[in-house]
Amino acid sequence: MARILIVEDEERIASFLAKGLRADGHTTTCVGDGREGLDLALTGDVDLVVLDIGLPGMDGFEVLDQLRSQGSKVPVIVLTARDSVGDTVSALEGGADDYMPKPFRFAELLARVRLRLRQAGEGSAAPREDVLEAGGVRLDLRTRRARVGERQVDLSAREFTLAEIFMRNAGQVLSREQLLDHVWGMDFDPGSNVVDVYVGYLRKKLGADAVATVRGMGYRFTR
Ligand code: CA
Repeated sequence: MARILIVEDEERIASFLAKGLRADGHTTTCVGDGREGLDLALTGDVDLVVLDIGLPGMDGFEVLDQLRSQGSKVPVIVLTARDSVGDTVSALEGGADDYMPKPFRFAELLARVRLRLRQAGEGSAAPREDVLEAGGVRLDLRTRRARVGERQVDLSAREFTLAEIFMRNAGQVLSREQLLDHVWGMDFDPGSNVVDVYVGYLRKKLGADAVATVRGMGYRFTR
C-alpha cells in the first residue's frame, strides 16, 4: 500500500483516479492547486505523485522543478495532453519521472504506478525498467517508441499497450478476455473481435511470428 498524492484540478479525473487507486489498496490525497500540491509533496509523507500539467497556482512543470531542486526524489507521473507529449518528454528528460498522455485507460496508469513504486522500493541501484526487449523487439516505455532490430516501427497507443502486455508476459498464454480488459477496458463487449484485429496489426508490424495463436485459449508472445 502506498500513499499517493493526486494533483489535478479536473475533479472528474481526480475522483476517477482516487477511486481506482484506492481500489488497488492505496491511500490517496487530492489537491487541485499546484502550489498546494508542491507543499504536500515536500512533506515527505508521499510515496508517489500523479501530477497534472495545467494547474492553477503553479503549473506541473514548475511543481516538478521545485520538487527536484529542493531534493525530493519522490516518483512523479505526469498527466499530459496527447498533443503536447513531445514537450513533456523533453521536459522530463533526465528525471526519474514518467508521463501518461490524456485520455488514458486506468489500467495503463495503474501499470505505471506499480512500476514506479516497485522501482522506488528497490532503490536507485535497481535497473530502471524503461525498456522492454525480446527477440529483437524493443519497446521504450518512456517515449512509447518501438523498434524491430534497427528499424523504427510506428505503433498506435493501443498497439503499443498490447505489445507491452505481451512482452511483460512473454511465453505465457494470454486470453482474449485478459487482453480486452487490459488494453480496452470496458469499451468493448467480450464478443468483439478487436483483439484478433489488433494482434493482426502487431504481426504486420513486429513480424508474423511475433505472436502465436493458441487455439481455444488465446495468444502468446513468442520472440
Ligand atoms: Ca488541468
